[in-house]
Amino acid sequence: MEKKQFQAESKRLLEMMVHSIYSQKEIFLRELISNASDAIDKIYYKALTDESITFHKDDYYIKIVPNQDDRTLTIKDTGIGMTKDELEENLGTIAKSGSLAFKKEVDMQEGQEIIGQFGVGFYSSFMVAEEVTVYTRSLHNEEGYKWHSNGQDGYTIEAYDKEDIGTEIVIKLKENEEEENYDQFLETYQLRSLIKKYSDFIRYPIKMDITEK
Ligand code: ADP
Ligand code: MG
Repeated sequence: MEKKQFQAESKRLLEMMVHSIYSQKEIFLRELISNASDAIDKIYYKALTDESITFHKDDYYIKIVPNQDDRTLTIKDTGIGMTKDELEENLGTIAKSGSLAFKKEVDMQEGQEIIGQFGVGFYSSFMVAEEVTVYTRSLHNEEGYKWHSNGQDGYTIEAYDKEDIGTEIVIKLKENEEEENYDQFLETYQLRSLIKKYSDFIRYPIKMDITEK
């Protein structure tokens, strides 16, 4: 297992996430679903021109799995996945578009607005998560990897035997606080309404098993 530190800029953004300067924590779901959709886009367009990729329409989807017993919320996609290098680069540094906008503007102390406007991407999961675990296997790699972090003392990466290509993000929710109910993100009714509110335009199916309570 390898233990690494976040790049300085990421640390700063993460700190803001962990201490949640932003009140609308629910947007983490929008961010993770949008990443899942981007990842499926990537494999989808590749498959159009690359005959060696045998992907069918039904293979492209996003699945949301709340687990009340573990207090985890999993966002799974059948997208392109990440190699080990991509895991480090994409989740350990702020290199990408949405986050970059944030990085530029953050000094203006307008954190709230900026998050609302651009989204802060993957790190927004730490607004609601005690720990985040990412299981991923790239289209370009036989081997899968597990990335894990509590958002504070760096992250670890280790090999992980993942059967299928794609990514699974497991969010261990924070304990409820007086003014914040994180359990709401385990309720299918609430999840459904958040998906409708923020992710209605996503062009792949977003699945969730509904069990009566
Ligand atoms: P952005 O989406 O603006 O690039 P994010 O912080 O949301 O920024 O994500 C950072 C990067 O991490 C993405 O650009 C992508 O390369 C990678 N990534 C995040 N989630 C996934 C996923 N589910 N599958 C594959 N790659 C992902
Ligand atoms: Mg994103």
